[in-house]
Amino acid sequence: MPANEVTREGIIIHLTTLKESDAMVNAIGPEGLFSFYARGINKITSKNLGAVQALSHSKLTLTIGKEGSFTLKEGEAIESFVVSDDLEALAVLNFVMELTAKIVQPDEAPAAYRWLLASLKAIKGKSNPLTVGLIYFAHLLNNGGIGLDVDECVICHSKTHIIAISYEDGGFVCESCYDPETMHTASPRKLKILRYLFRCQIEDLPRVSFTKEELIPLYQELSTYLNDLTGTNLKSLGIIQKL
Ligand SMILES: [Zn+2]
Repeated sequence: MPANEVTREGIIIHLTTLKESDAMVNAIGPEGLFSFYARGINKITSKNLGAVQALSHSKLTLTIGKEGSFTLKEGEAIESFVVSDDLEALAVLNFVMELTAKIVQPDEAPAAYRWLLASLKAIKGKSNPLTVGLIYFAHLLNNGGIGLDVDECVICHSKTHIIAISYEDGGFVCESCYDPETMHTASPRKLKILRYLFRCQIEDLPRVSFTKEELIPLYQELSTYLNDLTGTNLKSLGIIQKL
């Protein structure tokens, strides 16, 4: 391989269309986030079309420019995670991609990539999309250091008599610390689901399925929590709420 070329593996997370069917492409891979310029990629005749679509997991040969910027030379699709026949999966994939593009920081990207790839494989393998998407969301929050404390009362560290969740304090709350003025109690089932979302392992992704009625309010709550902490507004949440 010439000295001014590099090969990167990654999942395409976002494309910005530029002049004459060129695009700026954002991707995430085992080595982190990267972006590159792709010429003529939106032409239907482009040989790189399949490799440079959102949700493609691809091997990309990139030319390194003078300022260190990358331009696509050649792309080869390893696997595509696009679905066309399942509205719920489509809505979750949109959400997952928006979340990845908006909140993953460079130092968090290698860990986020492992969870993203596992989540996309689980959705493609017909696991419950809403469950997979929310586990991914919870783990991105963990990864960014803002995951909820679901192991104990976030105020007094008691591990027993947990009855509520306080997003303002960032975790579970016990009976004695519960403040009815500012907090809401949560059912044991809801606390159990939240604990699972934040604590499960990557291998558990395809193993569990919660109901839509249980999950959609949690999408809303965690999105509000994220917005309060970081100002991130997730447009694709609206599609999930309409499911
Ligand atoms: Zn407490």
